[in-house]
Amino acid sequence: MTADLTALSAAGIAGAVRRGEASAEAVLDAHLTRVERLEPTLRAFLTVTRDRARAAARAVDEKRRSGGPLGPLAGVPVALKDNLQLEGVETTCASKILKGHVAAYDATAVARLKAADAVIVGKTNLDEFAMGSSTENSAFQRTANPWDPARVPGGSSGGSAAAAAARLCALSFGSDTGRSIRPPAAFCGVVGLKPTYGLVSRYGLVAFASSLDQIGPFARSVEDAALALSVVGGHDPMDSTCASAAPPPVPPIPPDLKGLRVGLPREYFISGLDPEVEKAVRGAVDVLKGLGASVREVSLPHTQYAIAVYYILAPSEASSNLARFDGIRYGFRDRSPRGLEELYERTRGAGFGPEVKRRIMLGTYALSSGYYDAYYAKARRVRALIARDFELAFRDVDLIACPTTPTPPFRFGEKTDDPVAMYLSDVFTIPSNLAGNASASLPCGLSAAGLPLGLQLVADRFGEAALFKAARAFEAARPFPALP
Ligand code: GLN
Repeated sequence: MTADLTALSAAGIAGAVRRGEASAEAVLDAHLTRVERLEPTLRAFLTVTRDRARAAARAVDEKRRSGGPLGPLAGVPVALKDNLQLEGVETTCASKILKGHVAAYDATAVARLKAADAVIVGKTNLDEFAMGSSTENSAFQRTANPWDPARVPGGSSGGSAAAAAARLCALSFGSDTGRSIRPPAAFCGVVGLKPTYGLVSRYGLVAFASSLDQIGPFARSVEDAALALSVVGGHDPMDSTCASAAPPPVPPIPPDLKGLRVGLPREYFISGLDPEVEKAVRGAVDVLKGLGASVREVSLPHTQYAIAVYYILAPSEASSNLARFDGIRYGFRDRSPRGLEELYERTRGAGFGPEVKRRIMLGTYALSSGYYDAYYAKARRVRALIARDFELAFRDVDLIACPTTPTPPFRFGEKTDDPVAMYLSDVFTIPSNLAGNASASLPCGLSAAGLPLGLQLVADRFGEAALFKAARAFEAARPFPALP
């Protein structure tokens, strides 16, 4: 048994706990000790649920002593992005408007984690309502990149990515509307998976853009990401957009990738792509080739419209979804209004941060009569073309390989004054949300400055099995250094 329990994978922890080689409480202690030590620098968590975690860990140990069957995540410390409802604990979405809002129920994904005997250690920082790409839009704190605390962890699920990378937990969860799992995974040197739209129930995830949102895991190995998906995925009657498909089982490491057809989208290897990122991704593609995969160029011709389409559709849906935060039902309420209208105005004026207000204004404008056809309806039509690009490409290839982000992790403040520059960093990830397909970021190397770089693998809708297979082979061939 290794001395440092935080060095174990999620699968390793669950195995050790099941076999009685480690207690869930000892595993929790090891992680909480690291939280104490590293949180002052990282600030990945908005809430650490120490007492509840201890009670959950003791319950797992008790269950084992009494011979009860243990779940697939027995004793695994898990962190949740603070837009996932955990009953009895504050859910803030890193927004002042939800300060004090205590969740009345568990999200389906959270209930399934608990049923799998996971130990939930806390709620992680994010860009307010998951709107952003660096976690700098949190109303409460900024989270540092564990590889270089002067840099952002990526966003919007930056807290979850940093927590998994720094071994403050063994697994964490985020949400991905246009990118928010994959680039943070790339920036923090961990695996991040955006499952196929509908494979994981969104019940209990605070809605940002309902036609794009997906819950997915961060892990330090592909095996753990697949294990996490197998626990939270699958049909849920509480979410009408949830598919009937079941997630695939965790695949073994394949001996090779013979017969796998990999496509490189011409439109992604563009002039704005950082040379170090390009080199790492091309190197990763060579690894896939070396394993027997065949590689060819593919075209996704409508890629250039993806950001424009997303930044019409996502704000439109957000403007509608966020209408419920009016000071009446949830969280913060302005205390000195003169009348109802002013209560709404003052609550929303003080409760939402600037990026959220920008989205609400953009979305309300795009949905208003007179502009609806020109913006919202047109964006929906172009979205269908973007989805068709992938359908056509997946006739010729099984997977698409490309960069996760155009640049290595950037510094705090580098893009905050220019929202469009921030939006452009989503260029390689948004198309998968618009198409609803499966996509993951895998660590594929370090820059000269020692910063993690990400390879993105995209599979067709419900193509997670192919994705995991290739990802496991890649990871075995090109192991990534863990953070010291
Ligand atoms: N950066 C994108 C946005 O700000 C995507 C965020 C996300 O995936 N939640 O909307």
